[in-house]
Amino acid sequence: MSGAREQIQTLLEGAERVLIVAHIEPDGDAIGSALGLAWALRRRGTLCTVACADEVPASLRFLPGSEEFVARWRVDEDVMVVVDTSDTARIGAIYPEDARHEVPLVVIDHHTTNLRYGDVNWVEERAATCQLVLELVTTMGIPLDDVIATCLLTGLITDTRGFRTRSTDAHALQTAVTLVNAGASLGDIMDAVFRSRSSTMLRVWGLALSDVHLEDGVIWVSVSQEDLERVGAAPSATEGLSNLLSTVRDAEVAVVFRELRPGVVDVSLRSAPRVDVAAVALSLGGGGHRQAAGCLLEASLPEAQALVLNALRQSMTEKTTAAGGGTRRGVDDAGHSGA
Ligand code: 5GP
Ligand code: MN
Repeated sequence: MSGAREQIQTLLEGAERVLIVAHIEPDGDAIGSALGLAWALRRRGTLCTVACADEVPASLRFLPGSEEFVARWRVDEDVMVVVDTSDTARIGAIYPEDARHEVPLVVIDHHTTNLRYGDVNWVEERAATCQLVLELVTTMGIPLDDVIATCLLTGLITDTRGFRTRSTDAHALQTAVTLVNAGASLGDIMDAVFRSRSSTMLRVWGLALSDVHLEDGVIWVSVSQEDLERVGAAPSATEGLSNLLSTVRDAEVAVVFRELRPGVVDVSLRSAPRVDVAAVALSLGGGGHRQAAGCLLEASLPEAQALVLNALRQSMTEKTTAAGGGTRRGVDDAGHSGA
């Protein structure tokens, strides 16, 4: 793995201009990794542009440089870096259909489901991609400052839901200590990312929760376009809802089905440690982590529900059989920003 990191270091040290790309519907880890790397490389004179197909969510606009994101692919950069993104579909509309790698495409990601679509792929399991960026910046000998540290700590905090996921190991906590020592404010970041909900969001959640289903250890809700229109909410209003569902004692898996437009449904999955929702998401064309994953389906809401619930049932039955009839445990804290 460190071979890839060394190659990335060499590429970045030789580059004058770098484009750093975050995934669609960006979260704190995508934005924090992109900005943390950009600010670090700028300290050594590299010209960096940050890009994302979608807008930076309001809860992340406190990050220095968050207003700089452009929705474009490469123009004249010498190297491209895609962070926290497991496949090219997650790069979104800015990814050219006839993408040719005229310059090296570097992938830095912590998703085990990563499809290694870059020329150099540094994919290693960590609580957040921001940890990999910190490791890279440190080996490049770039001194940390409060700006870099704030960006990177934000990704670690959002991907661990405030240090509550099982991915929060000693290394993740050590990273947090390093970043706080470098000047990041834990309290300011926690407030910015976890006290950012609007009352409209809660109205959407209310509509969804009024029709909650719990069957065979799977808890799920759906949010239709009609629901969003009724309360005047953006599709991003469901962020955190799957985390909330995952706190229900009798559920092993939590699912939120969200209709983005007619015939397109986004699926957000959370699970207890026994169930691997990344495998289920991957089989449906998505990806993620064992206990927090997702996919995008070209289907109506009822079709998406049938597809995902069947896939989950099958996966959970296989697991139960393999484990000799395993006991049911509550869904653990395992997800991303929110709740
Ligand atoms: P969330 O449910 O918070 O949107 O996402 C949970 C995890 O699943 C994140 O790590 C995210 O990157 C991943 N994920 C969510 N949706 C998709 C998707 O459509 N495709 C892929 N590859 N990963 C996804
Ligand atoms: Mn991440």
